[in-house]
Amino acid sequence: MFEVSGLKINNFETLDHAVGSIINQDGTINEGFAVAINAEKIISMRKNKNVREILESATFRYTDGIGVVWALRKKGAICNRIPGCDLWQALMRRAGENNTKVFLVGAKPEVLEQASEKLTNEFNVALVGAQHGYFVDEDILIEKIVASGAEIVTVAMGSPTQEKFIAKCRAQHPEAFYMGVGGTYDVFVGNVSRAPEWAQKYNLEWFYRVLKQPSRVIRQTVLLEYFALLMLNKL
Ligand code: UDP
Repeated sequence: MFEVSGLKINNFETLDHAVGSIINQDGTINEGFAVAINAEKIISMRKNKNVREILESATFRYTDGIGVVWALRKKGAICNRIPGCDLWQALMRRAGENNTKVFLVGAKPEVLEQASEKLTNEFNVALVGAQHGYFVDEDILIEKIVASGAEIVTVAMGSPTQEKFIAKCRAQHPEAFYMGVGGTYDVFVGNVSRAPEWAQKYNLEWFYRVLKQPSRVIRQTVLLEYFALLMLNKL
């Protein structure tokens, strides 16, 4: 574990290593809440106490962005990027092998349906429930999750909505492992395409997204701020 701007971050070398800290060899689950850490979240956390609180409430913080990997390596960590969507798929594969009970929350109804089918048919996942991300009554959903006995709950609603929902659900069903996964189900069913291999290989997914969606440039200006802090050893 290494700190960036006062936030403890897990240094994982491989996806297997990360999955192994969620599902044990004997198939039992380590309860908790995983959150993806990237440069944007670090900058936002430095300016906003609420964001820091949400990130600190997680039990498992992984290096989703290359900027965070650089910061950890600068502090002596041996680690690699653990992209959230890869971690989710690897986790689902392991859950399928171990017959772990999974509950999916989030995304549009048709995306969720396709993701559920694919998980059941191709990954052999024991799905105990699925709810799209445009529901009205949070409390009813939480009751359903508790009743399902879910061991893993993944929530794809974008930040910070998914993290807020997880905090509430976790208070009532603390024995499960939770993960906020953003647009992961969309990528999984091919509704949204992932960056091409070259971008993934050279850690340029962020750059590819700027090219495809120039409006993200404003979001990405925080990367310059992050990079400056990194260079000055101020993170
Ligand atoms: N979404 C949802 N409910 C909402 C708003 C969004 O389920 O009220 C879903 C949306 O369908 C998509 C995902 O949340 O599947 C969007 O995640 P996004 O890419 O915005 O999140 P990020 O990965 O950027 O945090």
